[in-house]
Amino acid sequence: MGKPIRSREKTAGRDLNYPPLPEPLRVPVYDNHTHLEIEDGETGLDVREQLDRAARVGVRGVVQVGTDLATSRWSAALAASDPRVLAAVALHPNEAPRLAERGVLDEHISGIDELAAQPRVRAVGETGLDYFRTGEEGRGSQLYSFEQHIEIAQRHGLALQIHDRDAHEDVVATLLRVGAPERTVFHCYSGDEHLAAICAEHGWYLSFAGTVTFKTAAHLRASLRVVPRSLVLVETDAPFLTPMPHRGRPNSAYLIPHTVRQMALVLDADLDTLCEQIAHTTEQVYGRWDNE
Ligand SMILES: [Zn+2]
Repeated sequence: MGKPIRSREKTAGRDLNYPPLPEPLRVPVYDNHTHLEIEDGETGLDVREQLDRAARVGVRGVVQVGTDLATSRWSAALAASDPRVLAAVALHPNEAPRLAERGVLDEHISGIDELAAQPRVRAVGETGLDYFRTGEEGRGSQLYSFEQHIEIAQRHGLALQIHDRDAHEDVVATLLRVGAPERTVFHCYSGDEHLAAICAEHGWYLSFAGTVTFKTAAHLRASLRVVPRSLVLVETDAPFLTPMPHRGRPNSAYLIPHTVRQMALVLDADLDTLCEQIAHTTEQVYGRWDNE
């Protein structure tokens, strides 16, 4: 257990070295969206080593997120075997049209539904809409899959992790039409102040990734400033979206301190207080890591 089952593309010119450990946080937080199933880096970094490094810098636990049936099963199994891991299970929005084409979408949705019953599976995700990678022809099955995932989350009383890429309006409309689960998280929040206000109005959570540290991301920092602090979460989406100053290198949960420190600066907040609040909110959304 614990060997990655996917690999990230080693694009030419990308620095494949894992960044050094940042200065530890005094008050621990959680990474509420990570992909330990995807190997990255020159030689890879063992799943256990990544979690150990995370613990050393004040990242107490992670939500490991599946994107298809195989990685969702892997996520659930890892969560069952490591107390630092909880799982989220789903078919990624870009996966749905491919499965529909093969005629197996419903079968795979049933598989996700079964996994959602396990005690350390605490979220359904990542699900949602992606108009960046999926064209017009795939949108019907993508929407259908999203609706089914919302219902699975509702049925099992789990949090919902939304993947929303270039589809803000339709994601919001779908959540309102089908009925958003009580704990709905916009993973890797990518909207502006307008969407942030809508999230705040409905009590939806905004999970900020390394993107909030990017120079071009003024809209993310503006969003962070306008929402209630009680709706703010932090994630890596590792191995992608590595925070500054290591953008482009492999990402891992142990790099979250860079993101949280930037968030504290943006909010002009005390770092320890912000970490404490994020940790508390994360446990409200997913439950505690140390019990069933
Ligand atoms: Zn993800």
